[in-house]
Amino acid sequence: MKDIKISDLQRLIKTLDNGNGTTEEYFYKLTEEVGELSKAIRKNIRLDKTDNIKGTIEEELYDVLCYVFCIANSYNINLEQCMYMKEKLNAEKYNRKSIFDIEEE
Ligand SMILES: [Mg+2]
Repeated sequence: MKDIKISDLQRLIKTLDNGNGTTEEYFYKLTEEVGELSKAIRKNIRLDKTDNIKGTIEEELYDVLCYVFCIANSYNINLEQCMYMKEKLNAEKYNRKSIFDIEEE
């Protein structure tokens, strides 16, 4: 596996998806995927040693993430830029360091 930036993943999903859906369609798909995630969580279906991701919490989390990117792409929103802006706001709101200033231990 290689490390990938949020902006790279968003761009790759945009290339793959090629703007085939409307914002409304992506939003409906997102809510469908949230429903699938809900079911996987309720049944606690996890990825196991067989590496079969189908129907697992792991699969549905990634599906949700993909549709979040599709919605962002439909508005030409750069989610990586949003991440930095929102984390700065969160740090101010909760009077703490930015998560990007916290050293990993
Ligand atoms: Mg799914």
